[in-house]
Order: sequence, then C-alpha cells, then structure tokens
Amino acid sequence: MKLTVIGTGYVGLVTGACLAEMGNAVTCVDVDEQKIARLREGILPIYEPGLETIVTENQKQGRLRFATSLADPGAEAPVYMIAVGTPPGEDGSADLQYVLAVARDIGRRISQYTVVLDKSTVPVGTAERVAGVIRGELQQRGLSVDFDVVSNPEFLKEGDAVQDFMRPDRIIIGSDSERAREVLRELYAPFMRTHERIIFMGVRDAEMTKYAANSMLATKISFMNEIAGLCDRMGVDVENVRLGIGSDSRIGYSFIYPGAGYGGSCFPKDVRALIQMARQTGFEPMLLNAVEARNHAQQRVLYQKILQHFGPQLAGRSFGLWGLSFKPGTDDMREAPSTVLLRDLIASGARVKAYDPAALEVARRDLPRTWFESGQLQLVEQQYDALKGADALVLITEWKPFRHPDFTLVKTLMKSPIVFDGRNQYDPAQLRGLGFTHIGIGRGGEA
Ligand code: NAD
Repeated sequence: MKLTVIGTGYVGLVTGACLAEMGNAVTCVDVDEQKIARLREGILPIYEPGLETIVTENQKQGRLRFATSLADPGAEAPVYMIAVGTPPGEDGSADLQYVLAVARDIGRRISQYTVVLDKSTVPVGTAERVAGVIRGELQQRGLSVDFDVVSNPEFLKEGDAVQDFMRPDRIIIGSDSERAREVLRELYAPFMRTHERIIFMGVRDAEMTKYAANSMLATKISFMNEIAGLCDRMGVDVENVRLGIGSDSRIGYSFIYPGAGYGGSCFPKDVRALIQMARQTGFEPMLLNAVEARNHAQQRVLYQKILQHFGPQLAGRSFGLWGLSFKPGTDDMREAPSTVLLRDLIASGARVKAYDPAALEVARRDLPRTWFESGQLQLVEQQYDALKGADALVLITEWKPFRHPDFTLVKTLMKSPIVFDGRNQYDPAQLRGLGFTHIGIGRGGEA
C-alpha cells in the first residue's frame, strides 16, 4: 500500500519505518528541512532502539522516502497519517494548529478517495474539525472528493517504540465508515499474525480512549507516589507495599513504582488536556486534578529530601546526577523530572555534574545556556565522572547501567557517600552496609 506519514518525530518516524518494513511504500513528510536532509543521509533525529536499522534498510530498498512537503510529487497517496505534535496550549488544552495546518494541506491536494488518519493525540471532536477543514478546502477548489477522517491513536512507548508498533497490544480504529475500516484492516493485517488486535469503535470513542489510557497510567503513578509519601511519614517501606499489592491480579505490578514523578511528552500534557476537555463541558475532573497536583509535588520530592538532609544552604554543594531523560531508553527530556530538579538545585546555588546514556546532546541543546555559562551545570560523558567530588549522588532515571554500579568506586570518588535514590533502585540495607546514607522514595525514613 502507498501511504504518507506527516510529522517525522517519535511517532511519525517509527510508524513510517515500521510500515515500510512490512512492504508498504511510505513517504515521511516533515516541515523541518534539516531533519529531512539528515534522515536522507541515514542520520536519525531521535534515539530509539532498533529504529536506525529499519530506517536505513528501508530507505536503501526504496520503500521509505523523505520529503519536506505534501507538494512533493511522490507524496500523493490514498492514505495520509497525521503524526505531528499536539503540544499543550497556554491553558493546558491541546494546541491543534499543526494538525489543522496539515488538514488544510491535505484538502488542497486530494483528488480521489482518501483515508486520513489522526495518529496524533487529539481531543474528542478533532476528527470532525479535520474533516471540516478538508471539506472547506475542497469546496474552494470546487471539487467533490470522498474522504474519511479516522482516529487511530498511537500507543507506542518511547524506548520500546519499534517493538510496540510491530507487536501492538491493540490497534484502535475510530470510524463508522466501512470503506475506511476495510482499508485499515488491510494496512494493519501484517501486524495480526497471531490474533486479531483491531478494536473498531466510533471516532470520538477512539479519541477519548487515548486520553483515558494515558490518564489511567498517570493515575496509577500518582496514586503510588501518594502512598510513598505516606510511607515515608509512617515508618513503612513502600517497596514491600508495592510487592504486596501488585500480587493482586486486579492491581498488577505495572505502573505502581514510586519515583520522582511522571514526565515526558505525553502523560503531563494528556492529563492536562483531558482536564481542559472536562472543564469545557462544565464537568470538574476531581480525580485528574489530583493526579496532576500530586505529580507536580512529586517532581520536587527529591529536592525537598536534599534540603532536609543538607539544610537550606546548597551554595558550594556539588551533586552527581544520573539520568536526564524522562525515562530509560529515550533521549526525550520533555517535562522530565530531571529538569525540575536541575532548576531547583541551580537556583539554590548548587553545582551539578550530570550524565545520561542518550540525552546529553538534547540536554546541551535544550537546557538554559546560563546554567552552563555559570559553570553550575556540567555534562559528563561517563557515569562515574559525574561523582568526582560530589556531596551526593542523585539517581533520577533508572537506566540499566545505573542499576548495579560499582559502589566501592562510587564511594572513593564522592566527597560524602550519600545516595538520593529517586527510583528506589538500590537496597537500603546493602548500601548502609557499604557505608552509604541511602535516601529513597517512601522507604519509611524521611518526609
Ligand atoms: P514530535 O515533536 O517528536 O514530532 C512532531 C513532528 O511534526 C516534528 O518533527 C515537526 O517538525 C513535525 N511537524 C509539525 N508541523 C508539521 C507540518 N505542518 N507538516 C509536517 N510536519 C510537521 O512529536 P511526537 O512525540 O512524535 O508526537 C506526535 C503526536 O503523537 C503527539 O500528538 C503525541 O501526543 C502523540 N504520541 C506521542 C507518543 C510518544 O511517545 N512520543 C506516543 C503516542 C502518541
């Protein structure tokens, strides 16, 4: 099948590459000309395990090509997939300007039956708006062309994106059009080798499903962080509580890890967007408000623990930070808890040496210049270099190389052997045995 994916970020590039891998002829379009030029040379704009090989191979085989505009002669296709960003607007609702700009562009070009898929995470009612924009453009051109706008939200996880796309738990197709459903059944057939995974529903239902899924996951995290806060104050070890409740199959072990709060380009913005959607209907989303508030507070818990330990004077203190990306396996730092901690530490006059296996380039590009210029933030290329002369190690992203470090070496490098374990990766008793002070999240020690 011939298709065009618009937006070549985490979702668009993975979608385009994986669909090309299944034998389709895919054009990936992005307005970022530099991104496209580099992709044509096989240089990926993002870090995503396994993606580079698929992009390179499919480009070589001619199944995957890159373009900077829908006007590109090869970009005309019977299926367009919209995968552009939907960042939060000022009030927290999803900013649809990029999605609607693409809709206009599509309306200006199509001349035969076309299926337009919303892969971007968009509020309920967006497919109708996209259809309205396309219809408006067609009217201006004096044309009557059949098309369907389908909601096909994406559920891939950064860090596992290729795997998730190739073996999806489910594919949600929101459309009442049998013609569109048929096209998508065919498109996704190669991903259904073991069993049927498509769930068909109405277009608004599909749009809500994506927000409900992310908000449910965010709720689990905030719930557990709230319990962790309570555990800290009541002499309870949340890790035992986690094991105890996770064993209940109705609860399960996933997404009940306490930590430094959720971040990334999806959970924070999607919870906020759902809150805005609710308010627009006059419905106050009490639970979602609390999920968001708890996360906001949780992103500052490590800093509070640092203040509690060292006192309010952090000027002259030096911290080694392990992890910058919002989670392991990605270079994405959007709304990462690390940025909140860095902002607080730097504002208090502390110095930080930070290491991350994938996000150093993004950190160099996106973090405020002044942090580097003042000498307060230094990025290092090796994990142990972050610890030289440090008053404490702060673990904030649980990348695998941080899970079982050489603590004897760690201790010799640091000024004082203190570990703020923002992801409860380490055994407190073991660390204490090695002469460390271990401060985790909800381990019953401190507020
Ligand atoms: P991203 O910021 O990584 O990429 C978006 C891309 O769209 C950018 O490269 C940008 O240049 C391009 N773009 C913007 N306007 C354009 C236009 N008019 N024409 C062509 N290209 C244009 O975003 P992302 O993380 O891939 O997310 C895309 C959407 O998918 C969002 O709605 C997001 O909520 C959703 N989503 C993201 C993830 C994730 O893990 N990142 C998972 C599921 C869903």
